[in-house]
Amino acid sequence: MATDETAVLAASITSLNASTAEAFDTRAIQELDAAHFLHPFTDHAALRDKGVRVMVRGQGVHLWDSEGQQLIDGMSGLWCVNVGYGRTSISQAVYRQMETLPFYNSFFNTTNVPAVQLAAELVALAPPQFSHVFFTGSGSEANDTIVRMVRRYWDILGQSERQVVISRQNAYHGSTMAGASLGGMAGMHAQGGLPIPGIRHIGQPNYAEHGHGLSENAFGLVAAGWLEDEILAVGADKVAAFIGEPVQGAGGVIIPPPTYWPEVQRICDKYGILLVADEVICGFGRLGAWFGSELMGMRPDLISFAKGVTSGYVPLGGVLVGKRVAHALVEKGGDFNHGFTYSGHPVACAAALENLRILREERLIEKVALETGPHLKAAFTELATHPLVGHAESCGMVAGLNLVRAKGTSVHDCVRFDPALHVGMVCRGHMFDNGVIMRAVGDRMIVAPPLVMTKTEIDEMAARIRDCLDLTLADVRSRGWM
Ligand SMILES: *Cc1c(COP(=O)(O)O)cnc(C)c1O
Repeated sequence: MATDETAVLAASITSLNASTAEAFDTRAIQELDAAHFLHPFTDHAALRDKGVRVMVRGQGVHLWDSEGQQLIDGMSGLWCVNVGYGRTSISQAVYRQMETLPFYNSFFNTTNVPAVQLAAELVALAPPQFSHVFFTGSGSEANDTIVRMVRRYWDILGQSERQVVISRQNAYHGSTMAGASLGGMAGMHAQGGLPIPGIRHIGQPNYAEHGHGLSENAFGLVAAGWLEDEILAVGADKVAAFIGEPVQGAGGVIIPPPTYWPEVQRICDKYGILLVADEVICGFGRLGAWFGSELMGMRPDLISFAKGVTSGYVPLGGVLVGKRVAHALVEKGGDFNHGFTYSGHPVACAAALENLRILREERLIEKVALETGPHLKAAFTELATHPLVGHAESCGMVAGLNLVRAKGTSVHDCVRFDPALHVGMVCRGHMFDNGVIMRAVGDRMIVAPPLVMTKTEIDEMAARIRDCLDLTLADVRSRGWM
């Protein structure tokens, strides 16, 4: 697009925005977007043909786009807006901090008050083995930090040959070089020469996918055993750490059997390997506890966090460091040659402090555990009776359901659609068009609503989902896929 044309479009958007708060020139924004904005994980030619959706406002669990359509945000933005949209107290805390001290680094023997307060508060909320926090700007940076930190830990202990980090297929740990390498997404590894050296992947504890012929608990032990197999294959003296999400998020809300994490913990203890919980999604109440690992029988040495720590209002991530690693770094390590300009950013930390205050004061974590989480489970159990749904699972405020061609008597004998039909994407389209945001991972439809979603709003969301499942069913039948 010619530059002068771009300038005209940009000017028209600005003037529209300024004159009437609610009127947006959607087409102009879409054209500018297509001309200049490269989006994450996006086929740009396809997006340009379709036209991007322009989000303009949020309040509570609802979003509005530039055409005035209201949507229920079943995905909390991207697993992060835990306290919902429109929280004035967070914007005020951010504003106050910006007025006082918008930035200072924490490199050269300096610190800032919100970062210190937040570090102390996070340690107080975390399980008792944690003592320190390393701040980053995102979840990916947190996991990159973890790779460097666990390797440095073993260096300090004189076991530099311990370099290998074991992760899982279909895990999501971010999109930087180390984050994407830790992740087990084949599509990401296919681009850019990943994974980096020293990362290994084992199978995921996905009962529906891999548990044929086993009880759920028996499968949990089998899947944990894959870790021991890999440790022995690599050599126990070469393994630094094992990393996993307590519940896999982007992989499709994969909830492991109850036996899985306790057995993984036992194996890590047996070989002295560090256990890392990626709590970027599961942390800050998502599963009905401050940290998902507390519910899963894990005793991690390190926790990566981001997303829900600020409810996404301002970017922030970090690593909670347990005493085992912190002691080595602090007492014996000397310089740890790693850090970011924005490590401990005062504005982000101020947003996080206010966000944590809201989570505490409104007892949102208890509500997820005792009221809204069970209500979401009941709603999804009910949705599982729909002819298009094979099975549904939930844990706290995450849930998923599988679209199938024919239902079965168990999760293992449903008849699936041909993956090439992308039925999940068809379903997601109906959801979006009818005012509910749900994500498709293959043919698994998932939600992770804001933790403030009330029981009434859950019912409203579930009713919209059911209507859209009906539309998808009619659509799939008319295409002759069923
Ligand atoms: C989103 C996510 C990340 C990456 O966080 P970014 O802030 O996008 O870098 C890492 N791990 C998990 C489990 C995530 O869901």
